[in-house]
Amino acid sequence: MPESPRKAVPMDSITTTSEPFPFDNSYARELEGFYVPWQGEEFVHPQLEIFNEELAAMLGLSLDLEKDQLAAFFAGSDMPKGAAPLAQVYAGHQFGGFSPQLGDGRALLMGEVVTPAGKRFDIHLKGSGPTPFSRGGDGKAALGPVLREYLMGEAMHALGVPTTRALAAVTTGERIMRTRLKPGAVLARVASSHLRVGTFQFFAARGEWDKVRQLADYAIERHYPDLAKRDDAYLAFLAAVSKRQAELIAHWMQVGFVHGVMNTDNMTISGETIDYGPCAFMDAFDLNTVFSSIDHHGRYAYGNQPVMGRWNLTRLAETLIPLIDPDNETEAINQATDVLADFVSDHKQAWLTGMGQKIGLSGIAQGDDALIKHLFDAMAADRVDFTSCFRALAVFLRGDQGPLTALFADQSRLNDWLERWQRRLEEDARPKVDIAMEMDRINPLYIPRNHLVEAALERAEEEMDLTDFKRLLSMVTNPFNRQAGKEAFEGPAPAEFGPHITYCGT
Ligand code: AMP
Ligand code: MG
Repeated sequence: MPESPRKAVPMDSITTTSEPFPFDNSYARELEGFYVPWQGEEFVHPQLEIFNEELAAMLGLSLDLEKDQLAAFFAGSDMPKGAAPLAQVYAGHQFGGFSPQLGDGRALLMGEVVTPAGKRFDIHLKGSGPTPFSRGGDGKAALGPVLREYLMGEAMHALGVPTTRALAAVTTGERIMRTRLKPGAVLARVASSHLRVGTFQFFAARGEWDKVRQLADYAIERHYPDLAKRDDAYLAFLAAVSKRQAELIAHWMQVGFVHGVMNTDNMTISGETIDYGPCAFMDAFDLNTVFSSIDHHGRYAYGNQPVMGRWNLTRLAETLIPLIDPDNETEAINQATDVLADFVSDHKQAWLTGMGQKIGLSGIAQGDDALIKHLFDAMAADRVDFTSCFRALAVFLRGDQGPLTALFADQSRLNDWLERWQRRLEEDARPKVDIAMEMDRINPLYIPRNHLVEAALERAEEEMDLTDFKRLLSMVTNPFNRQAGKEAFEGPAPAEFGPHITYCGT
């Protein structure tokens, strides 16, 4: 753990104002030694660009604060009373290589709030200035990546995928150096916690097993309280995290999402999607789709995500071995190995059920796996737009093959599949219009299309104009119902747009 010579401050000296947020900071209270108390930079002119009032209300935050006050809070320059801002320490495997010392290098956990409904959430700031974990970085974030994370989190939430959510985006008033000067910004995001696989790795790599146990006990209490009293609590904990991740990644696959940086420091214990960097939604169906400019070998390609999920969970398992059976390492390894084998079947089950629903199946029967793969083969061969295809299937069930025909180059391959699919649907004996309606409830029409995201972010960064961004946000947060006159938000980019790449480290 690095020293915190410059700005470490005792908790009680942190600037406080009124008491507008219902804080209860269990991480700060119970996990001393797992963080450094810290403060954000004092930005001279923070400005609230976008604020998620609906989420703020759900969290029980006071809604009658001045805009300037909210801007100062969410920039990290001022703290609401009861906050206990801190930088969390963690390690992580990044693209396969282990970094023993990462941590919040440009982020702060402001504190945890307990909502009126009794749920606990972290409020976390990203881009709030350097910390002892900055490793030479500037501790800042540019407006574009902040808005991308805002949009992606809210879009994924609207699609029903567990995720961090976006509470606010603030510009800091300063310009920061990236490929060129860009407006600096801070994202305030919300998660059920920021415990990562990498948090466990940090202490395990140092052989600090008491701390690993303390962390595991805390994580169990916070996310899997039913397991706390079991004799095999740590093994059950591994199984529970594994199951949530298996289901989460299946969910990503179902909406065509590519995370892009599935490093172990970007994998949560809660099972929420976290750290939207070089991520994107796939347009043309292709298992090899990669969006990150530095992912040369396709480690985190669309189709490789389940494999990498399991790889990451194996790293978590390694940190838990001494807890699973302190006296018999071989036995602990065998038990953990069995749990990790379940990841494959859990994921397969979630994948099949979800993909089955996308093509209107109310349950999974023998042969459905092959039926789904047959469709994906046909889609891959013609590079069919992933999102449009499932909506076009519902249109087909309503009697119009036009939109589907337009997506496929090879009609005979499509027709082979359609015959097979229709035979399968007849087994369910439900009216086709009902099936179509159900499909439209889970297959989105509006996703964050890469070309629209890029255009909206560029306009925001270049002209400080968030009009396009806000319009896109309103579309992707209501993804299932067609809106008149919004055709431009439906399909992929025209071919001349070229391949899409997003960049890390922003
Ligand atoms: P990420 O790739 O965003 O998941 O970040 C990996 C690690 O790098 C984390 O520990 C971050 O806090 C740190 N990091 C990323 N960008 C910066 C930055 N601009 N300044 C300081 N630390 C950073
Ligand atoms: Mg990260």
